[in-house]
Parts: sequence; C-alpha cells; structure tokens
Amino acid sequence: MLEFPEVINLSRQLRESVLGMKVEEVLPPTKEHKFCWFNGDVRDYDRQIRRSVISDVNGFGIYVELSFNDGHKLCINDGVNVRFLSNSSLPMDYQLLINLDSSNFIAFSVAMYGGIVLHDGSYDNEYYLKSKNAVSPFDAKFEDYFFRTLSASKPSLSAKAFLATEQRFPGIGNGVLQDILFNAEMQPKRKISTLSQGDKENLLHCTIDTLKKMTDGGGRDTEKNLYGKTCGYKTLLSKNTINKPCPRCGATIVKEPYLGGAVYYCPNCQSL
Ligand SMILES: [Zn+2]
Repeated sequence: MLEFPEVINLSRQLRESVLGMKVEEVLPPTKEHKFCWFNGDVRDYDRQIRRSVISDVNGFGIYVELSFNDGHKLCINDGVNVRFLSNSSLPMDYQLLINLDSSNFIAFSVAMYGGIVLHDGSYDNEYYLKSKNAVSPFDAKFEDYFFRTLSASKPSLSAKAFLATEQRFPGIGNGVLQDILFNAEMQPKRKISTLSQGDKENLLHCTIDTLKKMTDGGGRDTEKNLYGKTCGYKTLLSKNTINKPCPRCGATIVKEPYLGGAVYYCPNCQSL
C-alpha cells in the first residue's frame, strides 16, 4: 500500500516521466476486479481525456493525481499500483491503461482494493478531501497541527490509533507506523494518556524524521516504485525483517494483529 513516502516519490517519478505527454488512448480493464472502483463508466474515460496533455502531477496523503490540460484529473489511492512502461509492448493485465504514444504506457492495477477516479476537479469523497486538505509532515505548520490533534484526541487512544486511524494524518498508515514507533521507543498499544510532554515531542520528531528518511530513500523496501523496482529505504520493522532480532537491543521482535494489520515491536526497548 502506498503511504506518504511512496506517494511523494511516485508523483515525483511521474512528473519526471510523463509530464507533457499526450494521451493517445485509454483502455478499460482487461478483467473485472470486484474491489476496484471508478467514477462512472470506465469505458468513458477514453472519450474524456483522449488527446489531453498531462500538465501536472501531485501527491498528497494517500493519493497521487495526474492533471490534464483540459481540466480533468485522474487520482488513484493507496491500493493502486502504478507502473510506467517505456518502449514496451502492451502489458497483459491492468485495471486501466493510458497509452501515451504506442510504446509508452501508464498501467494501473489493483491488488486488494483501490480507486482510479477520473473527475473534473469536484471529486467529493471524504478520504480524498481529507488527503487534499492534510497538513504535510514536512510543512512548518505540522507541529502545531500535531499537538492540537493530540490534545483533542481521547486519552484512551493508543499510539497506533492516534497516528494511523481516522485519517488524522493521511499517508501515515500501518506501514510507516512501525518504524516511527520503533524510533520513538513506544509500543503501538501505548496509551497517549501516558505520554509526558517530552514523549509527545519525541513522537512528533520521530514521525517527521522517519518519514523524511523513508522519503529520501525513495519509499520503503516493502513497496515498488513507478518502474517496478523495490524502493530504497530499508525498513527496520516490517514483513521483510521478520525473524530478525531488534536492531537496537537484539531482543526478539513481536508480531501481532492490532487494529487492522499486523504490528511489529520490540517488547524490550519500546515502552508500553
Ligand atoms: Zn529492542
């Protein structure tokens, strides 16, 4: 799943690869996917953006969005894989394919669920709007937003619930969460009511620093980039590090399901 670091990198790579290119044709799904949603009839996408030029690409929260010079926008959310295929033949399977000039394509596919939404700028979707209006963790206003949100949250919330649920911080999901909390030396179930002012400041700084490292690394190594290559940031705690000892103290890492998705933590050096 795309989270903040991958969204930023994917939009940058799209800008580098397809900005200024013209849409030759848009092809509908090769086979139906129950949990891939579109805006209206996907077979109508071709008529709407054929011969339009890709004029901008933006990443925000859990969305990457292409803008076209005719005013249309195509946004995808965190469950969609996007690949740029250059000097390539037509890929086998996809949920949507943009043919740019007969040998360059943008292919969209969905593993579990995802949205590929073409709209005119008025897409009225709760998740989209929360992502669009989110304060970026790299914005100077983030610190203020973080502390205001923390003060307004129920004290019984856990660190995971606070950071990675309810779209308080679009783009911070169950993936990036693991290393943020590892760096903050806090377990995912730690109640926010137990955090001292120092703990809160530490959590803020670990959130920003960890996301910065992940973004600078091109995204997490559990994900693939626009060209299908594994991203460069080496996760400390993820499915890739399973059965490895804690990188800080050497203790055995615990993996357990918690609030939708597995959490990984060191019971020795992350405090509850
Ligand atoms: Zn440890």
